[in-house]
Amino acid sequence: MLKSLGIRVTRKCNSRCLICHLWKEQATGREVSASQYKKLFSQPEFQEVEEFFISGGEAFLRKDIEQIIKTILRSMPKVTKFLLTTNGTSPLKAAELFKKLNKNQQIKTLRLAVSLEGDGVTNKKIRGIDSYNSALLTLKLCRAAAPRLQTVILTTLTHLNCNRRSLNHIKKIAVQTGSAFSFRPFYNSVYHYNHEKRLEFSGKQKALVVDFIKNCGSDDPFLKAQGEYLKTGKMPLMDKCLAGNIFADVRPDGSVYPCFNSTREIGNVAKGVYVKKIKDLGQHEQCPCCDEACFHPMFCWPPKTIKNNFSRIGN
Ligand code: SF4
Ligand code: SF4
Repeated sequence: MLKSLGIRVTRKCNSRCLICHLWKEQATGREVSASQYKKLFSQPEFQEVEEFFISGGEAFLRKDIEQIIKTILRSMPKVTKFLLTTNGTSPLKAAELFKKLNKNQQIKTLRLAVSLEGDGVTNKKIRGIDSYNSALLTLKLCRAAAPRLQTVILTTLTHLNCNRRSLNHIKKIAVQTGSAFSFRPFYNSVYHYNHEKRLEFSGKQKALVVDFIKNCGSDDPFLKAQGEYLKTGKMPLMDKCLAGNIFADVRPDGSVYPCFNSTREIGNVAKGVYVKKIKDLGQHEQCPCCDEACFHPMFCWPPKTIKNNFSRIGN
């Protein structure tokens, strides 16, 4: 039974990231409406879902984002955990949305993830636009608007920001904004990463990240798993992957995939989830996966972890 969903509401984006090709696409593809989300998520196979995250592209480019979230929440009454990821370019819209979500009784755990790649110069180099200040403002305004909000800074490590200065900068901003932080190495996924540039980091940089993870004071299991992955090439959390079983990835046109790194459709708005059991996981997926989108909300950030994480980073 599905318990966790990643829902990508648009392929449009106003960033120009080196790590991604979504913004270069002329055709942005079909986006399903709130009423189509209602049709999809009211199906029996979604009735045990307990958490979902909204992502894009950039979710705030959808004018109906608030309506979409409310519709999805109503369609899946067992959901109690909600996360939205943003590139941080719409601080006012984000604060307005989280002010409302703060009052929503159904959501017991309310989370916001904002992308940041290092200091202002590094962030601009990787994100292609000057989003550093607006990302910080997004964190500040949203936390003020929604006192129970948990925030996290997400970073994609490339050879440009895989250095102690950038990692320490991100950690510093996390402390200053009361946020957790998390990162993963750049890799070319089937969904949205840049297939043109070589952005991977070197063996020396890899060792630096492993050391940073060991000493950063975070007890986030995802970061620990990343350290293992970088050391051994094996992702421990993905040994018995439950993609398509416990979690699924919903694309902007309403099609359902087992995970972010899959090319096989298992459902859509018209038919619901029509592949009930996957027997050959890995045949159409990019395994092993090292992307937080597939399991981060599910396995990481339980309230205890994030509380410890805050205090340990903060002290
Ligand atoms: S990585 Fe995210 S923020 Fe950057 S261009 Fe792609 S979708 Fe937009
Ligand atoms: S890429 Fe493979 S390991 Fe990663 S989530 Fe998908 S099926 Fe699981």
